[in-house]
Amino acid sequence: MAEVLVYVDHVDGAVRKPTLELLTLARRIGEPVAVALGAGAENTAAVLAEHGAVKVLTADAPEFAEYLVVPKVDALQAAYEAVSPAAVLVPSSAEGKEVAARLAVRIGSGIITDATDLEAGDEGPVATQSAFAASFTTKSRVSKGTPVITVKPNSAPVEAAPAAGTVEALSVTFGALATGTKVVSRTPRESTGRPELTEAAIVVSGGRGVNGAENFHLIEDLADSLGAAVGASRAAVDAGWYPHTNQVGQTGKSVSPQLYIASGISGAIQHRAGMQTSKTIVAINKDAEAPIFDLVDYGVVGDLFTVVPQLTDEIKAR
Ligand code: FAD
Repeated sequence: MAEVLVYVDHVDGAVRKPTLELLTLARRIGEPVAVALGAGAENTAAVLAEHGAVKVLTADAPEFAEYLVVPKVDALQAAYEAVSPAAVLVPSSAEGKEVAARLAVRIGSGIITDATDLEAGDEGPVATQSAFAASFTTKSRVSKGTPVITVKPNSAPVEAAPAAGTVEALSVTFGALATGTKVVSRTPRESTGRPELTEAAIVVSGGRGVNGAENFHLIEDLADSLGAAVGASRAAVDAGWYPHTNQVGQTGKSVSPQLYIASGISGAIQHRAGMQTSKTIVAINKDAEAPIFDLVDYGVVGDLFTVVPQLTDEIKAR
């Protein structure tokens, strides 16, 4: 069976959920070989094996932490040359997309970014993408070289699939470009204790209807009752009610959770662009004609100041 390289996103050995989702997709098209780089890389092996990695290639060097993405591209290319995989899968994070794009250029391959699904095809893996602000779903495959595909978080379930997960050290020679861009400092964002917006299984968002920063606690309370991340429309962000890091949409973040709850959001095309691929969409809006109701699975016509606290209380009571 053909091997499929999976680029591992981890923090000090703790594997992030989008990588486990990639393993599910990789198993549809071949045998997953994981590539884990940097501090704690070896500690990822057990979890990766539990989710189907037949082999885990690891490398650690100061270059991975001290410089931007190029050392990681050097390492992924070394893995590519060692394995000759049928495809390379990378999580669709900002870093992942840069690593994938640079690798594709180096190996002369086509690339597909932000896939939301992946299946085996006669002529190579077929990726699903959402296009034109999610108005269309396209299926594509790479027609040149080894497919390099980045996949959005929440595109596949995490599945247990025990495999060997043999750990092998990856030998990496860094090229001249590797040390070209140095990291000067890192400032961790203050933790809210909530999941990362783009990775969360549930997102609760508030818009102009929330009517002020002082009311956003209603959205946060509902989010916390569900273990969800908090999102916001651009109108709410531009008004200064919530940080831009939480903006969902064309000029914000793109989310694809299992459940998206939009409160006081009209459903403008630019907002839909960032959330339309959510699996189940719920909207709370006092205007029955609001465009958001065109795409919801469940809609509540009502005042969010009444509905949201009731919903939060009901969930907390269960
Ligand atoms: P509104 O459109 O004003 O809707 C507010 C809604 O709240 C209304 O439907 C109203 O009925 C409802 N409401 C009011 N009070 C209550 C209440 N008490 N209870 C229940 N419902 C209530 N927007 C984004 O969100 N993300 C983007 O990334 C983004 N990028 C953009 C990029 C460009 C180039 C442009 C031009 C625009 C972009 N926009 C983006 C803006 C977008 O066009 C809309 O203006 C914006 O999404 C509107 O936000 P909203 O739905 O919160 O506000």
